[in-house]
Amino acid sequence: MQISEIFYSIQGEGPNIGKPSIFLRLQGCHLRCVWCDSKFTWDFKSGKKMTTEEVIKELKKYPGKNLVITGGEPLIQQSALKELLEKIGKNYYVEMETSGSLKSTLDKYINQYNCSPKTGNSKNKKIHLEKFPAEKTIYKFIIDKKEDLEEIEELIKKYRLPKDKILLMPQGIKKSELQKKSKWLIEICKEKNYRFSPRLHINIYSNQRGK
Ligand code: SF4
Repeated sequence: MQISEIFYSIQGEGPNIGKPSIFLRLQGCHLRCVWCDSKFTWDFKSGKKMTTEEVIKELKKYPGKNLVITGGEPLIQQSALKELLEKIGKNYYVEMETSGSLKSTLDKYINQYNCSPKTGNSKNKKIHLEKFPAEKTIYKFIIDKKEDLEEIEELIKKYRLPKDKILLMPQGIKKSELQKKSKWLIEICKEKNYRFSPRLHINIYSNQRGK
């Protein structure tokens, strides 16, 4: 498996915000979001090659049992991940952060997909959203400008995404930027009845790697 980094922190986004979590960040992404906060993951050949046993040994160093598999786009390496997930069994609650643009064959191992569809503000070409199991998927939309909501609401309608599984999150990798956008985004969430997700790790650690 090509690994970017493994570190222990708190989940900074989504429904499990605040949970001590082990982050398993995989190398490689097929998208090129203009505001990507982890461009160091793009090149599949960067990072470090690790065996399943080496990864498990690293995971065992930490007391947390919430495992966040992220990237890059972790589904690029899903066959290697399958071996890992089979071996760790039910020892962890497994969250997967994904763009939702690749089909997953890992449903039985994943407790929660945090699907973050990349919309127009990412400047990727129109991306097809794959189907994920409704009972274990939440959708985290990145909002850069107030006008982004129109495209997002079209997607919600097109893919019939349940409103109670939608979170709106401000785009930004600087605390000041996030604070500014959060203020108007919270007002939108109140008005339209969407759940707001902060980016807690950025508020606390800025955009430091391994935090
Ligand atoms: S999908 Fe994620 S890792 Fe890939 S470019 Fe977009 S933000 Fe970066």
